[in-house]
Amino acid sequence: QKGIIVIGGGLAGTEATWQIAQAGIPVTLYEMRPVKHSPAHHSQHLAELVCSNSFGADATDRAAGLLHEELRRLNSIIIHTADKHKVPAGGALAVDRGVFSQDLTQTLDNHPLITLKREEITSIPPDTIVVLATGPLTTESLATELQGLTGMEYMSFFDAASPIIVGESINQDIAFLASRYDKGEAAYLNCPMNKEQYINFWQELCNAEQAELKDFDRESSNFFEGCLPIEELAQRGEETMRYGPLKPIGLFDSRLGDFRENKDKRPYAVVQLRQEDKAGQLWNMVGFQTNLRWGEQKRVFRLIPGLENAEFVRMGVMHKNTFLNAPQLLHASLQFKTRSTLFAAGQLIGTEGYTAACAGGWLAGTNAARAYKNQEPLVLSPYTMMGALFDFISSADAKHFQPMPPNFGILPTFEKKIKNKRERYQAYGERALNMVDSLLTKV
Ligand code: FAD
Repeated sequence: QKGIIVIGGGLAGTEATWQIAQAGIPVTLYEMRPVKHSPAHHSQHLAELVCSNSFGADATDRAAGLLHEELRRLNSIIIHTADKHKVPAGGALAVDRGVFSQDLTQTLDNHPLITLKREEITSIPPDTIVVLATGPLTTESLATELQGLTGMEYMSFFDAASPIIVGESINQDIAFLASRYDKGEAAYLNCPMNKEQYINFWQELCNAEQAELKDFDRESSNFFEGCLPIEELAQRGEETMRYGPLKPIGLFDSRLGDFRENKDKRPYAVVQLRQEDKAGQLWNMVGFQTNLRWGEQKRVFRLIPGLENAEFVRMGVMHKNTFLNAPQLLHASLQFKTRSTLFAAGQLIGTEGYTAACAGGWLAGTNAARAYKNQEPLVLSPYTMMGALFDFISSADAKHFQPMPPNFGILPTFEKKIKNKRERYQAYGERALNMVDSLLTKV
């Protein structure tokens, strides 16, 4: 065995390649650009930032900032290069994108253990250790190969995601816990609306501003008929949502009286939120996949009774996004359950955002190197932002799996709750960084 193969030279693949080479192992990185272009990338450089030039807030009491600091301490090449080419951006870590990607390309190209090959990979090499990091726009031929390997139902090609809300920001004096027709455990938080509230919400939704779709998003959304955006449902008529995701029937709350018996007590419409994580800290708005601009989502969805102060950890999106069903396929070490020599990272495994992609690249690269040396794979502590993210994607509800960005809602809570949010997030940050420091003795 001559070394390790990494497929895809985006953020995840670049980080993975570097970590493997730092472990003293030869590595070949396959990147298809410029031989074949992706519909979103513009250059031939590695680790191109496809849209914004910002990695997000940099303070460690913010989820993105905590992830930056964890990666900084773990010697991430992406974060070190971002620090080097930082541009002023308030409290955010933003970079001069051209110089950033160029620097990374040169650094990897000049490394004696790294071979950079500009080639599209259409099948996964057998009999060798491989890291897959081909991102949300993985080419069709490789996606088909992956489908064959994992099974049709374990891959998605379009992300029609509803917003996710922090549980403690939901007003539970209004929202009630119940499942429709009392089926199983009460698993949904329900926000009831009267007629006036519903009509106001419906009108605002119909008039809200939509985000512009890119051509490749529009093409793929045409194939995705089962999942209409909530604003499109609203535009079909005043009553459509009440016969769809907002139907008020079969839900009972003792505070409202038993409206199974007495129809007058029934709310006019009900918005349901489904539990997203094991600990019940995150709630997903059922049927609210949407194409609205993010600011508009916040404005309109906060009109829903109980969601006045909703804190969103992920906004709704509808775009082309190839991703694996990580809860079915991957361990928290980012190793495939069915092939221990295959690892995956980046947007392909259902994490969201630039920094999460480098975090995946770091772990998949580190574990690929460990596998090469016959060492046990690392599983990161769920008290770190990195560990919490990989714990989430490998153990989430596989049936409803949607990509997840870093956020504090996925971290285990303290036994004694710290009431002040800022202080709580600072404490989460300190706890996570202590864990990372102790991990440094192992890697
Ligand atoms: P990528 O960075 O996309 O890297 C994958 C690489 O694999 C690419 O270089 C591609 O050319 C290569 N590749 C694909 N298939 C093959 C193949 N078969 N053989 C060889 N090479 C292959 N996130 C943010 O945080 N902020 C944003 O502003 C943002 N905007 C986005 C805008 C768009 C249009 C899209 C599609 C995504 C956006 N994202 C954004 C999400 C973003 O894709 C990820 O955060 C990040 O780029 C993912 O990193 P990655 O390494 O997984 O994938």
